[in-house]
Amino acid sequence: MKLPARSKSYMIPEYSLTGDLLSYITCGLQYRYQNKGTLPPSKPVQRWFGEFIHGVLEEAYLSWKYQKKEFPWDWKEDIRPIEDEIDLRLQVRGLYPHDEDLFFSINQPGSDLTLDDLNEHDHKKLASARAEKAINIWGKHLFPLIDSSELLIKGVRPMPNYNKNTSRSNYYGINGVVDVLTSAKINRLHEQSTLFNFDNEIVNFIKQNMDESDAEDYEIIIDYKGMKRPPVKVQNPQSEDKWENHKQQILTYSWLRSKQEDAKSISAGIILYLNELVPSKEDLALIKEEFVNDLTDIPENDEFHEDVELILNWEEDDKAPNLSDEFKKARSIRYIKIDEAERQKALKKFDQVVCNIENSLISETNGCKIQDAWKAEADERTCLACDFKTFCNKYSDKTKDIKVP
Ligand code: SF4
Repeated sequence: MKLPARSKSYMIPEYSLTGDLLSYITCGLQYRYQNKGTLPPSKPVQRWFGEFIHGVLEEAYLSWKYQKKEFPWDWKEDIRPIEDEIDLRLQVRGLYPHDEDLFFSINQPGSDLTLDDLNEHDHKKLASARAEKAINIWGKHLFPLIDSSELLIKGVRPMPNYNKNTSRSNYYGINGVVDVLTSAKINRLHEQSTLFNFDNEIVNFIKQNMDESDAEDYEIIIDYKGMKRPPVKVQNPQSEDKWENHKQQILTYSWLRSKQEDAKSISAGIILYLNELVPSKEDLALIKEEFVNDLTDIPENDEFHEDVELILNWEEDDKAPNLSDEFKKARSIRYIKIDEAERQKALKKFDQVVCNIENSLISETNGCKIQDAWKAEADERTCLACDFKTFCNKYSDKTKDIKVP
């Protein structure tokens, strides 16, 4: 009796919106070494803060949901225990903050410090200050709106430029994690909820931005970013256009969400840029540069004249300027309209990125050298912080003409 041969396993390559799409756009070669080679970055500070602030907000939401504690929360009593727990979780995964970001000695082996020993003056560092502001400024408005948090959404799309002889599969999978999903009838939100005894600023912001015709049963996708608001235009064509990429991320989430059974017609996305609540010196220098070169959308008129003056007159050795909360909130929140034409454009871009990654993978499998198979293109700041610059040909090409005095 002839036994049939076992059929080849059918695998669909899976791509994540943040881990693959945004990472590949930053630099293809860096993405190859970090993601496909599973080499973690040696100083993943940006990644640490992103994961830290997501974890803190998720835990803060759960504790608000079950304890209904009034805002504002006290840093030492209510917020620091959450930070500590998230810090420990990240340490288990090999992610550590810089000393200036978080006071983390109480979680180190041999430390005899406890939460009671901490004080705001010495121990509330940059990440703690941002966590506190994120909870006390946005938590009050955001938490009552949440339907689901950390929601995993997935979908499949036909493989771009599919070729049955060379392509790995005729479909590919996309996945993403939506930080917050909220659904309601916006014009009746205040009536519906017994939780509001105040003006909800996120609802007001949505109402100001959405068209009348959008005010039906809807869902809003909310995404937090552990970074400053990006410029609306990039000066250097080699720089990553984060403004556009973040919009495409939300549009792709909305497409993925629309494929789920219980989805409502989504009408908008909101991004919260959390560094704007407590900008670092580096953030302030970039914001100042964007004001000078007219690269930012906020402020769009004179309403924040004093804040703008404070930033324009600020120098790197000065203390951080005392910016108004209204200005920080305006720079922190961004509205993204979900439009079918824009959504299709975003999906095409995702297809294009997947096509590029697949082509590079196939070239490498066929024997092409890694540096020839993957496109190395990034802006100066990304290259400077890159672990692979010592052997990246593109980086050495860029720097070989620099004369050392
Ligand atoms: S040094 Fe720059 S171009 Fe080279 S891999 Fe790193 S980010 Fe990419």
